[in-house]
Amino acid sequence: MKCFKLLAFVLLTATASAQTTVKQDAYIKQMVDEVSSKNIETIVRKLVSFKTRHTLSDTLSKTEGIGAARNWIKAEYEKYAKESGGRMRVQFDAFVQPQGTRIDKPTPMKNVLAILKGTDTADHRVYIVSGHYDSRATKIMDITSAAPGAVDDASGTALSMEVARVMAKRKFPATIIFMAVVGEEQGLYGSANVAKRAKAEGWNVDAMLNNDIVGNTRGMETDIKDNRSIRVFSDGVPTAATEKEVAAIISLGGENDSPSRLLARYAKEVGERYVDQLDVKLIYRRDRYLRGGDHLPFLEQGFAAVRFTEMNEDFNRQHQDIRKENGVDYGDLPDFADYDYIQKVSRMNLSLLANLALAPAKPQNVGVITSDLTNKTKLKWDAPKGKAPAGYYVLMRETISPYWEKKFFVTDTTATLPYSKDNYLFAVQSVDAEGHESLPVVPKPER
Ligand SMILES: [Zn+2]
Repeated sequence: MKCFKLLAFVLLTATASAQTTVKQDAYIKQMVDEVSSKNIETIVRKLVSFKTRHTLSDTLSKTEGIGAARNWIKAEYEKYAKESGGRMRVQFDAFVQPQGTRIDKPTPMKNVLAILKGTDTADHRVYIVSGHYDSRATKIMDITSAAPGAVDDASGTALSMEVARVMAKRKFPATIIFMAVVGEEQGLYGSANVAKRAKAEGWNVDAMLNNDIVGNTRGMETDIKDNRSIRVFSDGVPTAATEKEVAAIISLGGENDSPSRLLARYAKEVGERYVDQLDVKLIYRRDRYLRGGDHLPFLEQGFAAVRFTEMNEDFNRQHQDIRKENGVDYGDLPDFADYDYIQKVSRMNLSLLANLALAPAKPQNVGVITSDLTNKTKLKWDAPKGKAPAGYYVLMRETISPYWEKKFFVTDTTATLPYSKDNYLFAVQSVDAEGHESLPVVPKPER
């Protein structure tokens, strides 16, 4: 057996023992602290001031409609970009959406992208954080009624912008794209355009974080107020898996280890490391009943993507004309958003983006050796391109466990563990000297 350091750490999980080490990187913590609920509130109220941000609404007015909204968002990103030393570029991602069920004529649409270029030219990884800036009233084709969309989804848009403001001043080896996309309510058109472009142009998208409806803390029917939980939705069997890949997943019990679910677990571990009083709740499904979101087009193109959404939704707010009926307020107004909560969710997103963009890339060609019948597990992999890792964590858990239970630190690119591959699940992630971890990779069987 090759010599390697074998160190076990207990991870912070709901089921693990109370003994846990939380080690924060001061560089990331500083950025996390700079995220401001006051800035977030200012952005949300400004977005609401455009009266409606319906995708098909006015594009000529300077003060109302989708055109004014996107121009303002672009100008804000450009302000943040001034602090980036030329590394952040802001652009409209423009396209014409053909006529469809919720588009009555071919319509020019514009996403706003702020791209913070990575400093390592050999590292082509891309991380994306996104919110949708369009809104809607009760009727999906109503382009003139007030549609404030404060929580759906000015909250996610403000998150993407405020995180960009803080991160623009810093350097990361990998590239981060901060998006405000359009056309979500009409059919995920803005996100779909970026996802297709990413695939066609060969972007190495390592993770996409969709934030949609992340600003309400009071449940509709109940008087439960929950400002310390955020849901992360992830698919189990990858949306884009081929028949052959699905067969392999079934045979090995891999249905809880899609790249998106690995990303969701990572969000829990790292997000809770940096944000106090925030419980990242994994939901083992792609999205809620009857709903979809901007992570879906990325899943369809084969990228790892998750959706963050508040714990308790208020459906009297979403997609509703502003009115009062039988004493009940309807409409997605900014007074009902909880800005300290959006701040927490923004901080969690920032910690993920920063930890990922600072980390080495994922290990390559990760395999589990299946040629011998043995009660040990032998794993091997190749070092990633770009920044060399200080080592790797081999992650392990029981097949019935939701979270990783042990991590073994090794400096070699092979590990033999005294646990049977038949009884446990494994993955490998790269880690640098400061403790920034890449996303984990599940091993493929190898002979
Ligand atoms: Zn939405």
